[in-house]
Amino acid sequence: MIYIYIFVLLFDKKINRGVFMKIAIIGFGAAAIGFIERTKDSGHEIHVFEKSSDIYSSSISGIRADGKLFVSKNMGGDIDIDLLLQKKLVDFYINHTDNKNVETGTSFGNTDYYEEFYKNGFQPINADFYHIGTDQLKEVLYNIYENFKSHKNIHFHFDYNVTTVERVNEQIKINNSELFDNVVVAVGRSGHPLIKTIIKKYPKLILDNTKVDLGIRFELPDHIVADLNKEMYEFKVRYKSRTGYMVRTFCNNPSGFVVLENYGDFTTVNGHAKLKEKSKNTNFAILVTIQLTEPFNDPVGYGSYIAKMSNLLAGQGKVILQTYQHFKDSKRTKNLYRVLPTLEKDKYILGDINLAFPRRIIESIVDFTEHLNEVIPGISNPDNLVYAPEIKFYSNMLSNELFPNLKFIGDCSGQTRSIIYATAHGYMIGEKLL
Ligand SMILES: Cc1cc2nc3c(=O)[nH]c(=O)nc-3n(C[C@H](O)[C@H](O)[C@H](O)COP(=O)(O)OP(=O)(O)OC[C@H]3O[C@@H](n4cnc5c(N)ncnc54)[C@H](O)[C@@H]3O)c2cc1C
Repeated sequence: MIYIYIFVLLFDKKINRGVFMKIAIIGFGAAAIGFIERTKDSGHEIHVFEKSSDIYSSSISGIRADGKLFVSKNMGGDIDIDLLLQKKLVDFYINHTDNKNVETGTSFGNTDYYEEFYKNGFQPINADFYHIGTDQLKEVLYNIYENFKSHKNIHFHFDYNVTTVERVNEQIKINNSELFDNVVVAVGRSGHPLIKTIIKKYPKLILDNTKVDLGIRFELPDHIVADLNKEMYEFKVRYKSRTGYMVRTFCNNPSGFVVLENYGDFTTVNGHAKLKEKSKNTNFAILVTIQLTEPFNDPVGYGSYIAKMSNLLAGQGKVILQTYQHFKDSKRTKNLYRVLPTLEKDKYILGDINLAFPRRIIESIVDFTEHLNEVIPGISNPDNLVYAPEIKFYSNMLSNELFPNLKFIGDCSGQTRSIIYATAHGYMIGEKLL
């Protein structure tokens, strides 16, 4: 009898250990939010380790910058995410705003532009957009955080920079101290140093790393693109340039602002739009996808060097600004006349981007812009502005199958590039784990 009792006790303990796991999530961005939302009621002991001192002051990330959410099968990442799940997560974010004041729109939904772009050799990309705006994002993050924190099984640890992740028998150890049954790495792009350490230790995790997007940010008066901006919130098109490179528009900001993005050892340009404060200019990125071939396999290194070269010319922490005509003619811009930049004066230098960018990239951008002018007259006006460098890094594509209890979600997995895709990825991995 006593043996049966001991057996039942041991068996019961094992089940309990299986049911209530100790899970670590590294990083508190979009992907972590999706994962926690799906697992918060499971009873598992969830520890969130975030290197920033609070929920807002985190490093570069759209979940803290702009909050333009989109629902699409064609952009945002390389995994297949059901449109219904994407929409559900958009509603999740909107439901966490205080007054649900969100701009919405579509790209190409019911517009004639689709055909126009198509006729001129572009591939138009369809999506539905929901713009929460930089100003409202703070309350969204705060409300989500407060909700998660109210769950007794969820514990937040801020100011906690994870530097090592190591497998120890069946468990995973972080920072050489605590052991967890499952570790979910959700460090986004800014978590590159941690990812580097992990893949150095476990190189078999890497599935692919060959791509980088290099380009410029284009800025022009709103009125040139007024029709387009009215018809659709964001126009996204791809085009195979005569150089053979694929070129695309990215992150269109009607009445928006050009801003800097600091990567630590170099500075790039970016753009955003606010819900309340508006400028008179529209900005968007024109990016050229560079796919490197063997034996070279360091696209991040390649992109970083070009960014550093641009910064070297512009002065530390600054970017290069040039008129479109001068960009085309490879002449230094010395004065600006009609179109005035929204980026503050002390953050750029008037110069020549051609001194920093390879010719094939410049040619691809010019070919793209001239073609775009066929659909949107005025795009290639000589006074429009070009800022550089704008870069989008693709993270290494990492395996989630190699170790069953070590998962990579969101942008650091190399499989997502947007808030909704990262959130959905976290949500789906959470579901799988349950
Ligand atoms: C300027 C900018 C604007 C953008 N705008 C948009 C947009 O409008 N719409 C859109 O869909 N996408 C946008 N994006 C992309 C979007 O931000 C990302 O795709 C998305 O946030 C990825 O989510 P994530 O959880 O993977 O990473 P993140 O949201 O970046 O979160 C990662 C978290 O991990 C933390 N972390 C990093 N390293 C460590 C460590 N070692 N230890 C502990 N914590 C760590 C970081 O501090 C951060 O909080 C933008 C990106 C940028 C850079």
